[in-house]
Amino acid sequence: MPETSSDRTKVRSHDKEFAPFISAEELDAAIKRLALEVRTAYMGKRPLFVGVLNGAYYFAARLLEAMPELECEITFVKVASYIGTSSSGNVTQLIGLHERMEERHVVVLEDIVDTGNTVAHILDALKEHHPASVAIATMLFKPEAYRHDLPIAHVALRIPNAFVIGSGLDHDGLCRNLPGIWRIIDEHA
Ligand code: 5GP
Repeated sequence: MPETSSDRTKVRSHDKEFAPFISAEELDAAIKRLALEVRTAYMGKRPLFVGVLNGAYYFAARLLEAMPELECEITFVKVASYIGTSSSGNVTQLIGLHERMEERHVVVLEDIVDTGNTVAHILDALKEHHPASVAIATMLFKPEAYRHDLPIAHVALRIPNAFVIGSGLDHDGLCRNLPGIWRIIDEHA
């Protein structure tokens, strides 16, 4: 019996069920709109994109392929901050920051900004490398859950405060490969 099963209108992963929320087409259209915004902001500045693994691989690939005219570099970092379906609030690790950042325009690529603890931690770490500027671009943003003052400069889609999966976002390691975004079905609703 596989741990994940899908009947297209519902997905079961571990003990939770998820319903379709944002189609792959809608998500990709939003990422393409965001790519125009980012391209306009960074044309001629040769930005360094810093994707946050594991979840941001999908967003990073779709965003960068939508702006081939922009001269840019990309690298990836990894953090461990999230357990199960609620944020632990503790960012414990930041791995893989080896590029020279001095004088560079750095754009952090996140899959989703929830409380904002993860991006706050990453920005603190990046600022120690004295970049010319640092900004955040995220595929999804939950304004109701956000607990920081840092501006989230570039957002593809704002969503309500619910646990979501798909397009890079996991449920305890599973479901990153589901197309589009799926929202948890609240068993108490
Ligand atoms: P934050 O530090 O902003 O609370 O959370 C950031 C990280 O928590 C994201 O990079 C992501 O890994 C995880 N996360 C937050 N909300 C969700 C969600 O709704 N679904 C999934 N799959 N991960 C989430």
